[in-house]
Amino acid sequence: MNAKELYNLQIQTIETIKATGRKPSLLLHSCCGPCNTYPMEYLSQYFQLTLFFNNHNIYPYEEYKRRFDELLDYVKHFEKQEDIKIDVILPPDYLNASFSEKLKPFADEKEGGTRCNMCFALRMAEAMKYAAKHEFEYIATVMSVSRHKNALAIHDIATKQIQRYPNLNYLPSNFKKGNGYNRGIELSKEHNMYRQSYCGCQFSQSCGKEHQGCE
Ligand code: SF4
Repeated sequence: MNAKELYNLQIQTIETIKATGRKPSLLLHSCCGPCNTYPMEYLSQYFQLTLFFNNHNIYPYEEYKRRFDELLDYVKHFEKQEDIKIDVILPPDYLNASFSEKLKPFADEKEGGTRCNMCFALRMAEAMKYAAKHEFEYIATVMSVSRHKNALAIHDIATKQIQRYPNLNYLPSNFKKGNGYNRGIELSKEHNMYRQSYCGCQFSQSCGKEHQGCE
């Protein structure tokens, strides 16, 4: 499968859902405000959304808190604008120390390698576990909107993990496509959002200006 085919799969899945005439529940793994803008605008047309901010990768704590607060501000604005309710779940503990230990053997890798695949897998596994426990119908992640993240790698990881949960569906996505990447930038600029200069973990802090938000 290539990136375009993954996007086509996303569209086909959405068409199937539209045809049912109802909006299923979806737990959306959300990593920050800017990455959430377009997926939330798009997905809220077809799903009842709940956001899940499980991002123990983000270092330090002040940055984690800042990204969460920025996301929350945007969700409040979006709820008012669309006259809908979107719950945002924050796991009770910030587990950066143990999360970082797992990534540490790959600390020197460039972004996009084994460290990142492990980071995707750990976060998706936690989100799926939560979604299954709380009986969501679908799960998705906003991460495929980022030009720094390989949508196909995320898809491969998630489609393997979802096999553990027969009652939960994974929504395939390549949110960069269909003008999603540009729309995300437009919305985050329009709302003057905080757009961080690195992906999140302590090993990515030297990314510098390559990042404008995770986008
Ligand atoms: S660069 Fe980003 S995706 Fe990769 S390990 Fe660090 S936080 Fe995770």
